[in-house]
Parts: sequence; C-alpha cells; structure tokens
Amino acid sequence: MNIEKTIKSLERNRFKVTYFEQAEDAAKYLDQAIDGKVVGFGDSITMKSMKLYERLSAHNEVHDPNQSTDNDEFLEIAMKCLDTEIYLTSVNAMSETGEMVNIDGTGNRVAASLFGHKKVYFVVTTSKIEESLEKAIWRARNVAGPKNAMKYNLRTPCVAKGGDRCYNCGSPDRICNTMNIYMKKMNDIDEVEVVLINDELGF
Ligand code: SF4
Repeated sequence: MNIEKTIKSLERNRFKVTYFEQAEDAAKYLDQAIDGKVVGFGDSITMKSMKLYERLSAHNEVHDPNQSTDNDEFLEIAMKCLDTEIYLTSVNAMSETGEMVNIDGTGNRVAASLFGHKKVYFVVTTSKIEESLEKAIWRARNVAGPKNAMKYNLRTPCVAKGGDRCYNCGSPDRICNTMNIYMKKMNDIDEVEVVLINDELGF
C-alpha cells in the first residue's frame, strides 16, 4: 500500500488530505477544527472508535442517526443530516489512484456525502487503501459489505458463511443497495477533506 501515492492522487482529484499517524491526533484535530457548527454524521465504526460524537457534540449541534432509538427517529435525524453545514462520514475503500467507494443500504450516508454542505470530511484509515479502483470496489463489496451485515447479524448468505465474501444476495435483509464512487470533489461543496489515519479502525 502506497500512502504517499494515494495522498497525491486524492489531491489531484481536488480532495484536501490531512494525514495522521495516530487516531487520537486526528480526533483532536477534528475537535479543534469543528466548533460552533451544525454537524451531520454518517455511520462509521472509525468515527465511533474515535468517540467523535462525544467530542464534537460538546461544542457543536451534532445530528447522528446512530443515536436514534427507533427507525422513525433514525429517518428524522438522517433527514436533518442532509443540509448541515458540516458532514462527516467514512468510506468503505479508497484507491491509490485517488477514488473512494461507499456502499449503502438506506442511502442516507451516500446521499448526504454528495450535496448540501459547506464542508464534508471523510475519516478513513489506511487499511482501506487498495492499489486500483477495481480492487477498491472488490474490497467494498467483499470485505466491508459482509462485515457490515455481520455487525447487524442479518439473515444474508454472507453472514451465514461467516462474512467470507459477498454472494450478491437477493435477501430482504440485503444492505448493499447502492454503490458510489467519489471520483473528484463535488462542485457545490466548498471543501472535501480526507482525514487519513495510519491505522485499522473500521471496515
Ligand atoms: S449483497 Fe448480500 S451477500 Fe453481498 S455483502 Fe451485501 S448483504 Fe452480504
């Protein structure tokens, strides 16, 4: 995995990149950079393990669908996340050629990451870097998808087989309903910043 090449490629695609060796330093950076804002969150194990909700909600108005107690509340909070000033989420994979890939089941995370904000942050660990876009798509489908399904213990073939790969299932529980490739920064978002951490936190 070539981190330097990945950073240069992302920058060529108009993404700002900040790089950290430690997740704690990245968390402190975000905590200082985002202050007094209205913030939306997309589901991310990486962000959870960095305790970003707890940190940022102490001095920002943070909307996080993961704090909901039922589906109605989840949708209500997810709707609020569509036009917050700041939006934070992660991606399922990125390539050394500078693209990022996200798979989504409900679509709130992908939808909110594309439009409606002044600034979007992708908080990503280097463990998600693949050599090419093709390999990044493979990772998103065959590593992140099954692991996500395992997290929710869904009735899908990937969970039944221990999360070994994607079976492109037709299960009603399927959570891989759309896949987005971030090729360049979206036009109407002022800045998209990739906070890249040399660690393995999410999937
Ligand atoms: S498409 Fe189905 S089998 Fe494949 S990862 Fe998603 S839930 Fe699992």
